[in-house]
Amino acid sequence: MTTPTTQERTTVPQGLVIAVDGPSGSGKSSVCRRVAAELGLAYLDTGAMYRAATWWCLEQGVDLTATDDVAATVRDMVLEMGPDPRFPTFAVAGHDVGTAIRAGEISAAVSAVATNLEVRADLGARQRRVIDVETGPEGFSRGAGVVVEGRDITTVIAPDAPVRLLLTASEEARLARRAKELHGAADARAIEATRDQVVRRDRDDSTVVDFMTAADGVVTVDSSDLDLDQTVAAVLEVVRRLTVDAT
Ligand code: C5P
Repeated sequence: MTTPTTQERTTVPQGLVIAVDGPSGSGKSSVCRRVAAELGLAYLDTGAMYRAATWWCLEQGVDLTATDDVAATVRDMVLEMGPDPRFPTFAVAGHDVGTAIRAGEISAAVSAVATNLEVRADLGARQRRVIDVETGPEGFSRGAGVVVEGRDITTVIAPDAPVRLLLTASEEARLARRAKELHGAADARAIEATRDQVVRRDRDDSTVVDFMTAADGVVTVDSSDLDLDQTVAAVLEVVRRLTVDAT
């Protein structure tokens, strides 16, 4: 990740919230981390929070179909998050879970926890608190602001954010990206092995939030034919248009 000097940074208004939604494999995390680093903003990966909640429930031996037990277990979860976009960290009850939450077992199970409406309310409240802290003087960004990514950020968590983006890509492009990440190749077999992680998970997640179509006022960036640098540039251009040029 290249680190721009302060002089090279696009200057954006203080307390900026950039809300980004999109399906799995759309490149959200890599793009959002780069954008946050470039603009000197904090970074919040809300998907990692749902993954951490899933890890915690499995660790505690909770049956994920027992809705009330899952909600109560998540309510008691002590989750600490480091919002530096260059080194985002996640710890549950003092355990660093940064690697564990990316395991296939968690990806396969996370939708069961994310479709629990009590869990959504709980984690949503925690996400709003991070936004409050990061738009004030005490946060990592010293009040510069935060890039928040997930599935319901533009619509539920930060519907008033000055910049709201839907990052999409064709199913083919998303499957190929995740297959490369998980299996190091995008041949037919790797793509089939990835399908559950992308297509099934998005279908299950879509039952409680709509992240496949842009809500009113949300700008769509389609990364199907863009590489990472080009997607970051396209997002920064939208940020500039909606903030610097709009003032
Ligand atoms: O973005 P990522 O793939 O890490 O997200 C993991 C899971 O977290 C998603 O499959 C979805 O179930 C859930 N999620 C959510 N709402 C968000 C972010 C993620 O339901 N805002």
